[in-house]
Amino acid sequence: ARTYLVTGAASGIGRAVARRLTARGHRVIGADIKESEDSAIRADLSTVEGRAQLVEEAAELGGGRLDAVVACAGVGLFDPVAVSVNGFGAIATLAGLRPLLAAGRDPRALAVASLAAVHETDPAIVAAVLAGDEEAAVAAARAAVERGEGRLVYASAKRALVRWVRRAAVTDAWAGAGIPLNAIAPGIVRTPLSRPLLEDPELHALTDASVPMPLHGYADPEQLAPLVDHLTSPENTHVTGQVVFIDGGADAVLRGDEG
Ligand code: NAD
Repeated sequence: ARTYLVTGAASGIGRAVARRLTARGHRVIGADIKESEDSAIRADLSTVEGRAQLVEEAAELGGGRLDAVVACAGVGLFDPVAVSVNGFGAIATLAGLRPLLAAGRDPRALAVASLAAVHETDPAIVAAVLAGDEEAAVAAARAAVERGEGRLVYASAKRALVRWVRRAAVTDAWAGAGIPLNAIAPGIVRTPLSRPLLEDPELHALTDASVPMPLHGYADPEQLAPLVDHLTSPENTHVTGQVVFIDGGADAVLRGDEG
């Protein structure tokens, strides 16, 4: 049995991943801002204190080691908080828990990014997140919202996360330490996060047009869990620095000729 830490474990994709891993006999330490039976750690990853608290409590609960980390917590809001949670929170989760992974067995790490990461973004937000400048990133996100481009905030945080993953994966700290580090890019998954998009008929039609999923349509969170399980299992020895699209074909439709 392995010990996994999963953020965002109280709902949606994180919960489905946590439950699958638990059912397969692994120990899962869940973390979330919300209290739930699936999250032993309650931490707000939008704050510096919450991120430090996550690392501290994970070290304690894991006994100084973890075998895998899944950074799944995120918000769907077109608001600067998306930069703090989906960008800084996810990067802090992976970077902060890396020393515990280095002490683990067949360690693996994964970030839940998004199909949105490879579409239109705001370069100022992406650059500020990668520079680790949260004040500048939040200011750039606020500026985007004010000029009516709030939709770019979420995508930009995810782009920065993906770029961070690809850069870090091949460094001494990760590849050199034998730790595969990847991201998945889901299309639309039926969770509380996407519910507002699917409840409103007009938004639903817009979503159908912007995220075409010819294979099996929108996904349920349980349909993502096996891929997360594989990428974070000892069986994954050579996939690293990748963004694996799990999107019913949306990326092939939208960017097929770029492959
Ligand atoms: P969800 O809302 O069901 O779950 C997200 C979880 O993250 C919640 O339990 C929430 O409490 C937690 N969270 C939010 N803010 C937090 C904070 N500040 N600190 C700690 N935890 C916090 O949504 P989901 O759809 O399962 O989303 C999981 C991940 O998948 C997110 O990163 C999201 O961006 C990504 N994603 C979702 C979709 C989709 O269509 N649902 C598509 C692509 C990517």
